[in-house]
Amino acid sequence: MESLESLYAEYKDCRRCDLAESRRAVVFGVGNPQANLLLLAERPGGLDEITGAPFSGPAGDMLYRILAAPKVEIPKWDVYITNIVLCRPPEDRSPRAGEIKACSDRLWKHIELVNPKIIVAMGRLPMIYFLGVKGKLEELRGWYETLVRGRRVPVFLTLNPASALYGEPEEIKRKKIMMYEDWQRIASKLKETKA
Ligand code: SF4
Repeated sequence: MESLESLYAEYKDCRRCDLAESRRAVVFGVGNPQANLLLLAERPGGLDEITGAPFSGPAGDMLYRILAAPKVEIPKWDVYITNIVLCRPPEDRSPRAGEIKACSDRLWKHIELVNPKIIVAMGRLPMIYFLGVKGKLEELRGWYETLVRGRRVPVFLTLNPASALYGEPEEIKRKKIMMYEDWQRIASKLKETKA
């Protein structure tokens, strides 16, 4: 079987979609390759292209604060993070369907290699393209399921922490409360899977 290293070697100069034209670097993933929890977000940002790691900026600060919050307390070493596309789209637009499709073989191999106990899909595009669910993200938050190496793996759909970075203070507060509730549910399931 492939390794994460060989998958990275296969994709580090990838030109399978148009995002190769504008990206500065392929941003593969970050975290423990044997983590119990795989976090799946949308796309890399500008700072990620410099550091080579997803969630390097303020969204990452927010994510790691939530992981460390009381009643969540998920250690960083138990987490691996990647995106549905490995290349940053121009002007930080959302990736397009064709670009997501071009990167999907890689995504499934990536997930199979990490082989997590739980996947967390963060945001609207992972909801649509990974879970195949359409509708209002906030109303559809919760547990789903997928198959990894023929094994049923729970998938929790929640907001992307970046969505709570900007906006009216009340709106930011509302989203933070939702995320905190979601992450407590994820942490509780993670404890169950380890028991
Ligand atoms: S987004 Fe994925 S498929 Fe497109 S160029 Fe980057 S690595 Fe290749």
